[in-house]
Amino acid sequence: MAYIITSSCMDVLDTACVEVCPVDCIHYDKGTDRILYIDPDECIDCAACEPVCPVTAIFEHDSVPSNEKEYIQLNALWFKDKLAARKQVDSLRAPGTPPAQPPHK
Ligand code: SF4
Repeated sequence: MAYIITSSCMDVLDTACVEVCPVDCIHYDKGTDRILYIDPDECIDCAACEPVCPVTAIFEHDSVPSNEKEYIQLNALWFKDKLAARKQVDSLRAPGTPPAQPPHK
């Protein structure tokens, strides 16, 4: 299991989670990626990242909202194929498009 970054992160890219992660498993390419990604093979489920996210984008695997489930495989995909992950992000929300729903509370 791992923690998952979901849609609220898109185009926000706050990096508070990166600062607190003890195993440095949260990554993105600055200037290219529109969302941060958690490496599911490296995450130790410590939960440190979840409360520091200002847009409540991070969930434990089993707590990912039903309408955000595609982000489970998307987080893993980036570590195997960055281009495919970026293409999928753009298909979920076109660049410059406002969020379809407000951030999770
Ligand atoms: Fe890093 Fe812990 Fe968050 Fe996993 S749960 S991404 S190890 S801070």
